[in-house]
Amino acid sequence: LKALRWHGRKDLRLEDVDRPQPGEGEVLVAVTCCGICGSDLHEYAEGPIFIPVDSPPGTGRMAPVTLGHEFVGRIAELGPGAPVCAIGERVIVDACLRCGECWYCSGGEPMLCEKLGFLGMMQDGAFAQYVLAPAALVHPVPDSVTDEEAALVEPLSVGLRGVRRSGLKAGDTAVVVGAGPIGLGVVAMARRAGAGAVFVVERAEARRQKALEMGATEAFDPDWGDAAEQVRAATPGGRGADVAFECVGHSDPLNVAIQSSRPGGTVAVLGVFGAPATVDFNQVMAVQRTLVGSLGYVEDYPRVLRLLASGQLDVGPLITARIHLEDAVTSGFDELLRNQGQHVKILVAP
Ligand SMILES: [Zn+2]
Ligand SMILES: [Zn+2]
Repeated sequence: LKALRWHGRKDLRLEDVDRPQPGEGEVLVAVTCCGICGSDLHEYAEGPIFIPVDSPPGTGRMAPVTLGHEFVGRIAELGPGAPVCAIGERVIVDACLRCGECWYCSGGEPMLCEKLGFLGMMQDGAFAQYVLAPAALVHPVPDSVTDEEAALVEPLSVGLRGVRRSGLKAGDTAVVVGAGPIGLGVVAMARRAGAGAVFVVERAEARRQKALEMGATEAFDPDWGDAAEQVRAATPGGRGADVAFECVGHSDPLNVAIQSSRPGGTVAVLGVFGAPATVDFNQVMAVQRTLVGSLGYVEDYPRVLRLLASGQLDVGPLITARIHLEDAVTSGFDELLRNQGQHVKILVAP
């Protein structure tokens, strides 16, 4: 069986691996398709970031590891004590692996699990024909949701969690800095949550266009001038947005997010930072802005599935290419590094 394994920075290899055997409480999923995530790309271009190379995390696994966590597939095999699924059932898997036992897990905050791991980083993922997953993290996919929509539930859930963490309320004005897969998911979810207007700051024209298709009110290019000023000028009274979302992971967009939010507003940080950011914290302290971090999802999966099943979410604009596992490096990872602004989500079929 083929699997795309991360050995090191710029070193992804399509290798032959044995068909995995599901252990206690696990299921084996035959992968239908799997999206390339920004975090996969970070690991390829700049990693290791989350992939353990020195000491094993809770999962006990280290590189080399098969990447891929945004997938849909069918249950192929059940391990002992995994009765919740049926063979052949179409499923997606919550990729945030948690222990279920630590202080945070028992307190209802599993995203803070002391042993938090990530499928496709700390355990073999789904750029492969088969992937093992804990049965407890499996979600059946309703018939009205297509495979491609289902493969997008993971990044959309990141967006939904960010919107929920931000406390955005109906009628609020929002700004989303960065219109990659996560930023575009935030745009869609902020709209569904009742945002009165959603402004976007994004350099790539194709992505600004996608943002408008996903429901953005107006999209600004930071090269047109001071981006925060453009956003503030578009908000009521020129005060700035009630809620800002940083979806890039660099100093500049973070500062744009802070400065385009209104005094007393909230800035939600969803970007993954490759290096520490420089921020003038007087911009937070003096006008009492609130900074919140947001990672992953938990109860967000079923919500996104319900939105998709009810037809309230058109995610078609998010898929920009469909490729085969054999071509994943050249037409997937390298293509994203060359032409990131042209793409949102590339789906890989094994
Ligand atoms: Zn992802
Ligand atoms: Zn835990």
